[in-house]
Order: sequence, then structure tokens, then C-alpha cells
Amino acid sequence: LVSREVKPDDTQLRVGDLTIGGAAFHVIAGPCSVESREQILSTAHAVKKAGATMLRGGAFKPRTSPYEFQGLKGDGLALLAEARQETGLLVTTEVKDTATLQAVADATDILQIGARNMQNFSLLEAVGDMRKPVLLKRGMSATIKELLMAAEYIVARGNTQVILCERGIRTFETMTRNTLDLNAVPMLKALSHLPVFVDPSHGIGVRKAVPAMMRAATAVGADGIIVEVHPDPPRAKSDGAQSLDFSEFEKSMTEVRAIAQAM
Ligand code: PEP
Ligand code: MN
Repeated sequence: LVSREVKPDDTQLRVGDLTIGGAAFHVIAGPCSVESREQILSTAHAVKKAGATMLRGGAFKPRTSPYEFQGLKGDGLALLAEARQETGLLVTTEVKDTATLQAVADATDILQIGARNMQNFSLLEAVGDMRKPVLLKRGMSATIKELLMAAEYIVARGNTQVILCERGIRTFETMTRNTLDLNAVPMLKALSHLPVFVDPSHGIGVRKAVPAMMRAATAVGADGIIVEVHPDPPRAKSDGAQSLDFSEFEKSMTEVRAIAQAM
């Protein structure tokens, strides 16, 4: 069902008043985790001013260590709702499991499925039963085919509103967190009609190098990017090392906009 052979034309998703896929290019920006009212509201205003069309922020965080910050959970969802209300930005946040799916779905415009859950088949089926857009991130060791089959799980249950997201794959390289597989973008666009996003933040994991990969992701034909932005990256509770501050984000957005317009 996700194959271009079955459906040759690009799938376009309606999210609020936005159209994702097709001609428009979208930037989703915000912190890795929602940390406080001040943090999420200031970030929402800053990314909106710089031209982002959606806000991101994790409330239920799938951390590698159980001793790391796990997110504000329900309080984080409430703060996202407040930021959405105050700025008019649509929001995306990660759904970590089926137990919290309904609460997360009620608070978000796009459900994010994280890399670690790309093959959580019960979760894929459960979001497949919903009629809400899903941003499905590529598993850290998943092939392009496996990503497409994970999307197939969702679409097979009737939810056709799926965005595929390349976010870097496991690598032998130690200088970067992952290897952002930009090959995946033209491959996914050729193989599938679904919109394709890129996450340069997790893809490279190095703050200074994120702007270059934002530009590259735009130039390679992605339908949008999702970028981590924090008011004070060194003090972030998660992923500070790859988060842009407001001025870095604003500068990159000027470059990204120019590339997107030239495409
Ligand atoms: C995130 O977006 O903060 C995140 C945890 O991403 P991923 O699932 O790609 O690691
Ligand atoms: Mn993160």
C-alpha cells in the first residue's frame, strides 16, 4: 500500500491548515524534551518567528538509561497544548507505548513514533487504527525496506497519513552520533508515495554540524525537516549536544528557505 507502484501520485497530508507532501517544505522545530513552561513557550515563539511551521517536544522520552530524565509526561503534554494555543503552531510529540497512546493522541497533531519503536508492531497497529498523522522514524539499524514495511503496518489498518523520517543509522564512525543516510531520501521518494522528512539533529548529533545537514536534507528533496532547538543547549536535559540555540536556528532557516525555494 505504501508503494509508488500501487499509488503513483504523492500522498499529501492535511495537518490543521498545513499540507505536508507535495510542493510545500516544512520545518518542525523545538526541544528534544519539554522541560518547563518557560522553556517550551520561549522556544515555540522563537522557532515560529524563524519560520518553523510546527513545534516538537518530547513528553514521554525513551532514554537509553533508566536514570536519565524521562520527560515530564502528562505535564509535558499540557505544556505543549499551552504552547500550541499561545503560538498557533501545530505540535508533534513522541508516543512511547500503547498505554499512553490515547493521552498523547489527544494532545498532539502528529504522533511521532521513535526509532526505538519502529518495529513495535502493537504500537504500529494501534496508531494504524487511529485517524491521525504519524511521523514514523527509521529504526537505528533498520533498512529502507524495513522502514517501508513498518509504515505498511500503519497504512494496512486504514491510517494512510504517514510521514517517513530518516534520522541516522548506526555507524562504525565515532565522531558523529549516527550516519545520516541521505541516500534514503531519493530512495524512499522513488519507492513510496509517502512524504519523507529528515532529522539532521539525531542524524549527526553534533551541534556545529547540524546546519550543514539541514541544508543537505533540504537539497536532497525531503518534504521537511525536524530539528532540535533549545534556549540554552548546554543546559538541556536531553540532547543538548545536538540542539541549536535560537540564533543558530534562525540563521539556518534563512539558508534552508533559500534552498527550498530554489527546488
Ligand atoms: C527524538 O526525536 O528526540 C528522538 C528520541 O528521536 P529518535 O527516536 O529518532 O531517536
Ligand atoms: Mn532528541
